Amino acid sequence: MPDTCAAYLAWTTERAWAVQQDQIDPLTAVRNEFHIPQHQQSDCEHSMVYLCGNSLGLEPKSVAGAITRELEDWARLGVRAHTAGRNPWYRYHEQLREPLAKIVGASCDEVVAMNSLTVNLHLLMTSFYRPTAERPCIIIEDSAFPSDSYATASQIRYHGFDPEQHLIRLKPRDGEQTLCTGDIIQTIQREGSRTALVMLGGVNYLTGQWFDMPAITQTGHEQGCVVGWDLAHAAGNVPMQLHDWGVDFAAWCSYKYLNSGPGAIAGAFIHEKHLKDAGLPRFAGWWGTDPVARFKMDKEFVPVCSADAWQLSNPPILSMTPVIEALAIHDRVGMAALRERSIQLTGYAAFLLSKPRLSRARIITPEDVNARGAQLSLFIEGGSLQIHNALLARSVTIDFREPNIIRAAPAPLYNSFEDVWRFVDALAEVLEA
Ligand SMILES: *Cc1c(COP(=O)(O)O)cnc(C)c1O
Repeated sequence: MPDTCAAYLAWTTERAWAVQQDQIDPLTAVRNEFHIPQHQQSDCEHSMVYLCGNSLGLEPKSVAGAITRELEDWARLGVRAHTAGRNPWYRYHEQLREPLAKIVGASCDEVVAMNSLTVNLHLLMTSFYRPTAERPCIIIEDSAFPSDSYATASQIRYHGFDPEQHLIRLKPRDGEQTLCTGDIIQTIQREGSRTALVMLGGVNYLTGQWFDMPAITQTGHEQGCVVGWDLAHAAGNVPMQLHDWGVDFAAWCSYKYLNSGPGAIAGAFIHEKHLKDAGLPRFAGWWGTDPVARFKMDKEFVPVCSADAWQLSNPPILSMTPVIEALAIHDRVGMAALRERSIQLTGYAAFLLSKPRLSRARIITPEDVNARGAQLSLFIEGGSLQIHNALLARSVTIDFREPNIIRAAPAPLYNSFEDVWRFVDALAEVLEA
């Protein structure tokens, strides 16, 4: 795991401490690059405490102008904007390679921005889930995001196997919410010989647990399995080295920690070791060929030797613009600084939540910073829905999963220490009421 031993700040429970910390932290200024949702309360409007960046990241202020620029080029140039626009559309998606590669720890050839997450999972499983009668299984988390459960089960069925038998779900021990790394590894060792694919979420969406990705990847490989990751909750949240870890493939969405807007164009990673294999089964489209030869309109598909080979269509420029703007902010801040601030913000939240007045809220996310990202999931005695509503009335946006879980994710690019303080203070008030 990456070294994440940032020194902890001297937290206190005083609001004044949070305010002061915001004044001295160099990353506080980045918050101004985002629109912060406002809340009308009695006569005055003020900033929401927005802790839902794990669900939908906030809008960078630069997005509207950037989209307007593309609309103007379209108006001014029509089809010629593909080559003569200010950001020529023909190679538009290529701008995303470098920032995406840095976010997941890959080389530029290994990443591509395309489609949406579940679509990419299917496209990648088409190449990398190759079940046989001896090895038909896929291993996922029992609490995998529903779309991942549906996608893997439907792939199993598509290949003529039975999800009831061939979808193996990793369950926590009785009475526990998160998985022990040792148990995951043991299951992979036990089931490995009949498993074609291990595909977990890098950070589990429900519990916020960040799995030991290198150890799990290595164990899967030792058993002869392909190992892919769904990085929806990991991309832009925790530092990763997909290339060095030897991960076979990964996919993620860009609207959570990557702040690229609702349903934003997603990302995909395919390890270099697979890029030269032109014989890999895949669904092909014209944008997967060499851009130099694309308009020769050959009948034969020759995949370009990069992750672009999985692209099907020419990219939707207007949807890609927010991704470019949002990733520019990530790129400028860098994963290392972002992660350091994230550890502080989430650590501060965990510190405040540990106080006795919050005893009805129990953190289920692992305490170890190497096993969590920004998100804290809380088990709320007495139910989560009322808590969610009462917090909203106090200008705090968090997210809930019935019956008992709330999830709060301080996003390091725009949440402040004062946001964290206001959240915990409001939660304490609501729990005491
Ligand atoms: C958010 C999320 C999704 C959403 O899938 P879309 O295809 O973007 O709608 C899928 N899987 C996981 C693990 C998620 O967290």
